[in-house]
Amino acid sequence: KLYNHVQDLKGSIRVYCRVRPFLPGQPNSVSTVGHLDEGSISIITPLKYVKDGRKSFTFNKVFGPSATQEEVFSDTQPLIRSVLDGYNVCIFAYGQTGTGKTHTMTGPKELTQKSVGVNYRALSDLFLISEQRKNTISYEVSVQMIEIYNEQIRDLLATDGLNKRLEIRNSGQKGLNVPDANLVPVYSTDDVIYLMNLGQKNRAVGATAMNDRSSRSHSCLTVHVQGRELTSGTTLHGCMHLVDLAGSERVDKSEAVGDRLKEALHINKSLSALGDVISSLAQKNSHVPYRNSKLTQLLQDSLGGHAKTLMFVHISPEPDAVGETISTLKFAERVS
Ligand code: ADP
Ligand code: MG
Repeated sequence: KLYNHVQDLKGSIRVYCRVRPFLPGQPNSVSTVGHLDEGSISIITPLKYVKDGRKSFTFNKVFGPSATQEEVFSDTQPLIRSVLDGYNVCIFAYGQTGTGKTHTMTGPKELTQKSVGVNYRALSDLFLISEQRKNTISYEVSVQMIEIYNEQIRDLLATDGLNKRLEIRNSGQKGLNVPDANLVPVYSTDDVIYLMNLGQKNRAVGATAMNDRSSRSHSCLTVHVQGRELTSGTTLHGCMHLVDLAGSERVDKSEAVGDRLKEALHINKSLSALGDVISSLAQKNSHVPYRNSKLTQLLQDSLGGHAKTLMFVHISPEPDAVGETISTLKFAERVS
């Protein structure tokens, strides 16, 4: 009973932590993860970060360095079904650059059936379930893919004028918050993979060789589902936002200048705005500060209310990263 009560209080925000393994070719050092189980993790850190040199954090779920893509997805699966029932869902990947956000959402560079991430698996489940239901409900699925960089929105599926700035309009029309971003109907997982690749290419076009923009912008793949019950004619609309967030690392303000400083300030602002929104939802505050960033405005009707939120927070096991690891886990603790 107590458990149900706690679940109720927490509403529908879940936080999962994923620890990246050491990568091949990395110097072999000792992991900063001291202890790890299904729902908690403790970090061994120099005294300057926490008082006793060890700090524990609890989560809805913790995935260790050997967790497979399949295992990580299996706890995400119920959310996919709820999109087809007409709920809005947000899935975020949060963490310092290099901790595995893109790995979780999309997968590694060489994609195989085993290595594909949450995006692909979610879409293939979506098509599978809609196929199973086809005698009772007919579904139409379409996707948008946008990028938020320096608080500006860009359409990653634009076929013309890549740099056109888009506005958020919470117009409610079909639940589209960026009505001017290309909305592409899809009929299979292959269609989505094609579009995701196109989006990734468009993202790269905006970046200079020296400047990997993907770590400093948020990318959001939105899947819109429109369903119609065949007998009653009742319609429903659900959508799922799959968000690969900008890297959460702090940039040393005394060193960063120009564009780099501007980017860092925008990222900082939008990630703290996201943290503020989720934590005020988790605490059931009456005022939720959606207006403080483009990201939270964009996702406004998919955060809170009946919507379901899942945040994957990523950390690396490396001693050099321990300061960022602690600050990532503190962020996660605040939103859960
Ligand atoms: P981010 O998107 O957070 O910057 P990436 O997803 O690009 O990080 O991950 C950095 C590197 O680590 C990539 O080469 C990626 O394939 C690898 N990697 C990340 N997570 C894992 C994992 N769980 N297992 C194996 N390799 C991983
Ligand atoms: Mg990435």
